[in-house]
Amino acid sequence: MRIDLHTHSNRSDGTTSPGALVRHARETGIDVLAITDHDTTEGWAEASEAAAAEGLTLVRGIEISCKLEGSAVHLLAYLPDPAYGPLVDELGRILDGRNARLPATVAKLRAIGSDIEEDDVRRIAGDAAGIGRPHVADALVDKGVVQDRSEAFDTYLGSRGPAYVKRYAAPLEEMVRTVAAAGGVSVVAHPWGRRYTHQALDEARFAALKEEGLSGIEVDHQDHDEPTRAELRSIARNLGLVVTGSSDYHGEGKVDHDLGCNTTDPEELSRLLDLARASAQVAGRTTPEVLLP
Ligand SMILES: [Zn+2]
Ligand SMILES: [Zn+2]
Repeated sequence: MRIDLHTHSNRSDGTTSPGALVRHARETGIDVLAITDHDTTEGWAEASEAAAAEGLTLVRGIEISCKLEGSAVHLLAYLPDPAYGPLVDELGRILDGRNARLPATVAKLRAIGSDIEEDDVRRIAGDAAGIGRPHVADALVDKGVVQDRSEAFDTYLGSRGPAYVKRYAAPLEEMVRTVAAAGGVSVVAHPWGRRYTHQALDEARFAALKEEGLSGIEVDHQDHDEPTRAELRSIARNLGLVVTGSSDYHGEGKVDHDLGCNTTDPEELSRLLDLARASAQVAGRTTPEVLLP
């Protein structure tokens, strides 16, 4: 069974529709796919319709923009009740912050001589629920200012870049609690990835997060080299956290993140689903049952 638990559609910064994402996963031989757009559940309905048609098992997820001691941390939330008020409110705050960031980013880019308009970015963002830096990056590629998204981030949009603008992100520990209260489970995405600081997320911190309800760590991710994976795997084992692996697929939006390039062990998935079932029961929320092939 091939399991990929972290992918993006064009409802955030991926380049394929949720339906096309599911069909592509099927063609690639994926049996279980999670759709985890940034800060939105907008792709869920289309993805689940396509999954039913294709006979693929879909896990509904969200990759939530969080912060820990000033550093960005991404939290994968699986199977939360999407109607749970506090979760809806917090995702709304994050998306508002994202959208408010655009004019400020464009102003900074124009101030340093890039001929770019808000509309260039909006056109590229299309159906996305929130406009993010990847869309600005794509607009810069479109204008011929840079070659690809990576260059846009390295040169302009990264946290040390001249066009960087801060935005709202949810406090990590609070969000872990909110996801649990919504009947879902949470997994820290690529915790020691390239753009993140390791110091804040050490074993003691993971232990504290587990106390708040954290279920797992995304260990196998392209941003982690082998020694990093080994160290994170041993932290997960020590703490009894689930280990996941995934592609973080973005369609054409990210190179070297092909569907299924990292996968999750079936046993780890069933542990995660057991935890989700227990979480939904404790929280008294209804979340869709995931039937494994
Ligand atoms: Zn991420
Ligand atoms: Zn992602």
